[in-house]
Amino acid sequence: MRAYVLRSPGQPYEKADVDVPRPGPGRALVRVRAAAVCYRDYLAWQGWQRVRAPIVPGHEFAGDVVEVGEGVEGLVPGDRVAGLVYEYCGECEQCRAGKPYLCRSRRVFGEDLDGAFAEYVSVDVKSLVRLPPGVGYEAASFAACVVATVVRGLEKAGVSPGSAVLVTGASGGIGIHALQVARAYGARAIAVTRPGKEQHVSRYADVTVTTPEFSEEVRKMGGADIVVESVGRPTIGQSIRSLKWGGRLVLIGNVDPASTEMQLGLLILREIDLLPAIHAGPRDLEKALRLVAEGKVQPVYTTHSFEEVPGLVEAMPRGGHVGRRVVVP
Ligand SMILES: [Zn+2]
Ligand SMILES: [Zn+2]
Repeated sequence: MRAYVLRSPGQPYEKADVDVPRPGPGRALVRVRAAAVCYRDYLAWQGWQRVRAPIVPGHEFAGDVVEVGEGVEGLVPGDRVAGLVYEYCGECEQCRAGKPYLCRSRRVFGEDLDGAFAEYVSVDVKSLVRLPPGVGYEAASFAACVVATVVRGLEKAGVSPGSAVLVTGASGGIGIHALQVARAYGARAIAVTRPGKEQHVSRYADVTVTTPEFSEEVRKMGGADIVVESVGRPTIGQSIRSLKWGGRLVLIGNVDPASTEMQLGLLILREIDLLPAIHAGPRDLEKALRLVAEGKVQPVYTTHSFEEVPGLVEAMPRGGHVGRRVVVP
């Protein structure tokens, strides 16, 4: 099959002809119909994430089940599915507590397991969710890493009708969907983006702010109950200052892996909750796909050819795009 292979971090993705994987017990072979490019792919490629190379990169995908291994129930060839970003054991303390995303033996596609920048991927069926009718592969491909993670983060933060939710990096893959998820939960969405991106985000937001020192403007509006931080280090100081007392800061994305300083006194005095969200579980993915099926979240993406994968990954830090970039292998 056609696939990309990362031989070692920092090396360019190599286009290769790789054997189609055989689905072992409890696994399904998925024909990848769409795979999305994530900032995490860039970090893995650059060696910021631990990667078991050589490996097929890519962790965001949707496709068709074409074969199932021994003992698989509930999925049959022909089923349309979207995948979680990772596989989990289902038996450890975290899994039993309903937190598979913290599984002690969690294995991430494209880092620990061969991933989705290929025609086929072999997946533990626990990590697959069936697509609702009417939800396309491209829209579903990034539901787990983007929409479902936002759903989990916002639920963790207790989003409710009338909440003021500020989203940084609002034109990016996480941001533009976080605005929509916030609104789907009845919240008021405040977008923070770079100048020039307003026209792309304003249709998904109630208010759009483009000043780098955005906290002053947000506080004049009464402040935010919740911030979805999808940028990280460059904006987190302003995000904290934008929150109301008792506000919640949901940490989802960080474009800069270097450590960052935070004014702890401010966090304590205002009792700000820091709520990181790494990935989502199968139930979150089901919720995310339902929001898409109901039209409450309209996935924003551009479609690209398989040939473009290396260039798209390389271009991630330049951030000139709006929404997700999806390739069709
Ligand atoms: Zn991702
Ligand atoms: Zn586990």
